[in-house]
Amino acid sequence: MRIEFNKPYLSGNELDYIQNAIVRQKLSGNGYYTNLCQRLLEDRYRFRKTLLTTSATAAIEMAALLLDIVPGDEVIVPSYTFVSSANPFVLRGATVKFADSLPYHPNVDPIAIEDLITPRTKAIVVVHYAGIACDMDAIMELARKHGLYIVEDAAQAINGFYKGRPLGSIGHIGCFSFHETKNIICGEGGLLVINDDQFAARAEIIWEKGTNRTSFARGEVTKYEWVDMGSSFLPSEISAAFLYGQLENLERIQQKRSALWNYYYQHLKPLGMHVPAVPIYSTNNAHTFYLLCKDEQQRKDLASYFAWKGINAISHYIPLHSSPFFTSRYGKNHLPNAIKFAETLLRLPLFYELNQAQQDYIVQHTHNFFDRNGSATLDMNFLAKQSNIV
Ligand SMILES: *Cc1c(COP(=O)(O)O)cnc(C)c1O
Repeated sequence: MRIEFNKPYLSGNELDYIQNAIVRQKLSGNGYYTNLCQRLLEDRYRFRKTLLTTSATAAIEMAALLLDIVPGDEVIVPSYTFVSSANPFVLRGATVKFADSLPYHPNVDPIAIEDLITPRTKAIVVVHYAGIACDMDAIMELARKHGLYIVEDAAQAINGFYKGRPLGSIGHIGCFSFHETKNIICGEGGLLVINDDQFAARAEIIWEKGTNRTSFARGEVTKYEWVDMGSSFLPSEISAAFLYGQLENLERIQQKRSALWNYYYQHLKPLGMHVPAVPIYSTNNAHTFYLLCKDEQQRKDLASYFAWKGINAISHYIPLHSSPFFTSRYGKNHLPNAIKFAETLLRLPLFYELNQAQQDYIVQHTHNFFDRNGSATLDMNFLAKQSNIV
């Protein structure tokens, strides 16, 4: 048996909608399907204003422009994340300060953020890892106390909620991804969510190459012209048409992913492995199922064993504070929790078309490995921390 890590899922009407976009003879951005996607997401999650983008990276670049990040500004970013949480601020000349993860979850530790705040700090980026919410009350309180902006990198967090509030709607700006590895996809794509009205008008301009073309399309002005800085952040109608086909089936896709996630959880929990923790304040959007091994060697051994059995399970981030780019500029700092998750976390295949036989095969081989190699030694400190989270 060979089981890939991820497989893009065609949910139904994607190709018909692309064909329809062609019939409509408008393939550039900000057309019929872009509008349908934006309205659907605004209605479903009560987002104040959304703009489809070519990626989450592009949405975060828009956030950096909207927040007027300039050289000398400091932006606090988790270390255990994808490079796109940080790069857009580096592109604006900001200094990025990396915050450590919680001891018991890859999400950022609000106390680590607070330690990094200086008079130069302008914004904080939070990442809802695996679609699990960060402690947003603590983070928004820091923002209020210090007058800072919050950008939610919700790239993995579609349909995730914090205390009933949709992720991406809580900070000043939220950013989602529809990259083919996420729950809802269109190849490459993303979404900018504006939760603070002061950014709404300018966001449309930055999105459309620094022009007021969106106002023009609404008939508010008679010509469109260059009015601010900007770039081309909008996806084509071909991508938007594909995305609309996916969004129509969001409920079904999410239900299937949850069923797969829960099956892993039920069958692997008895191993005494460190299974993903979901805090009581967060839902679980079933973006990722991961195991935490006792150390890096065990993670490597498990990954090799899976590879031998034809199962493609993979680790995740190399912490950004330990990256060649960052260390060559700013030297090394010590973020032990981010390093621990980098060394011990292994993600299992999870995609819509993963079938029962495949999942049983993965579960069986996970058990086989730990029967032979001894299950992970339980870190009692970790479990104590985990006990107030379900
Ligand atoms: C996937 C991802 C991104 C990048 O998304 P793109 O749409 O590929 O730009 C950024 N941040 C996080 C946390 C991600 O998981």
